[in-house]
Amino acid sequence: MSNINFETIERTDQVHLPENLVFGRNFSDHVFEMDYDEALGGWHNATIKKYQNLNLSPAALVLHYGQTIFEGLKAYKQKDGSVGLFRPEKNFERLNNSAKRLCMPTVDVDFMVNALKELINVDKDWIPTKPGYSLYIRPLMFGYDPFLGVRPANNYKLVIMLSPVGPYYPEGFKPVPILATDKFVRAVRKGVGECKTAGNYAASLLAQKEAQKIGFTQVLWLDAIEQKYIEEVGTMNLFVKFKDEVVTPPLHGTILPGITRMSVIQILNDWGMNIQERRVSLDEVFEANESGTLEEIFGTGTAAVISSVGRLKYGEKEIRFSDEEAGELSKKLYSELTAIQYGEKEDSRNWMQYL
Ligand SMILES: *Cc1c(COP(=O)(O)O)cnc(C)c1O
Repeated sequence: MSNINFETIERTDQVHLPENLVFGRNFSDHVFEMDYDEALGGWHNATIKKYQNLNLSPAALVLHYGQTIFEGLKAYKQKDGSVGLFRPEKNFERLNNSAKRLCMPTVDVDFMVNALKELINVDKDWIPTKPGYSLYIRPLMFGYDPFLGVRPANNYKLVIMLSPVGPYYPEGFKPVPILATDKFVRAVRKGVGECKTAGNYAASLLAQKEAQKIGFTQVLWLDAIEQKYIEEVGTMNLFVKFKDEVVTPPLHGTILPGITRMSVIQILNDWGMNIQERRVSLDEVFEANESGTLEEIFGTGTAAVISSVGRLKYGEKEIRFSDEEAGELSKKLYSELTAIQYGEKEDSRNWMQYL
């Protein structure tokens, strides 16, 4: 891959950031696009252009057979006005892992990180500056040649779009109620649970809808075989804090290998805490709650960073922490991560990259 074409870098006179930024609803002026065609030697036409609709055949493979993957990361306005990205190379490495599993072409990680920086540079006025605000970045790849029949596509498009966002929880860092279910499963080992691919989310909608109908924000997925062990929540990895140990489910192929998860594990290790990647059953969690050794449950993910769990229900059983106050460790981790991301604290682990 050589250079990026700057097609029509028309800066709009003014950037109009809405007062209330609802997550995922607003997009900046420009996108990055590039095309893949085996016959043309792979990736080509890397272009930064005006945000616009795509032109797809109704027979485009992706629309029928779901060969599509995505990523999610954020850019943060730093105290000094510069722009920081949190571990962006990890997102493109993960995109490549998803691509391999779905027979899609991989990308050059360094090239993509640079392309992303170029794109953000064009639209850097779209990065909100208020505390807790950021620019959400959504890379997307899909196969689009027109063909009815199940096979890998020959042509792919990679798009990066930018979406200015406010804090994930506009009411503040409030704990969320989650519902564990054995009525549906999300992913099974050797499937595509560890890929950020559309089908996983489509498959989760009905469970999510039913949970929301009875007042729960997210579904807590259980393992598909025994329906006993906790896996993850919506678009977050899960951590359980017992008295002497913090536990998170291991990466056995059914859960998304979160970059926030990876970072939290490292921070907890650095803090000298006992953090274990091991299977943890719902029974263990409910028993610990009864014996008084369960202290906290929280989710980790780019969008919300850390989400404290206020309530966990499974069948007739329910654990109640607080509906008002996030857990101690959740708050501490949220502060640590956001301080690094906004450049308010020294980035001793070299996680940030700057434009
Ligand atoms: C994106 C995602 C996560 C969190 O990953 P991060 O890299 O931390 O944002 C966790 N679970 C699922 C299902 C996801 O899609």
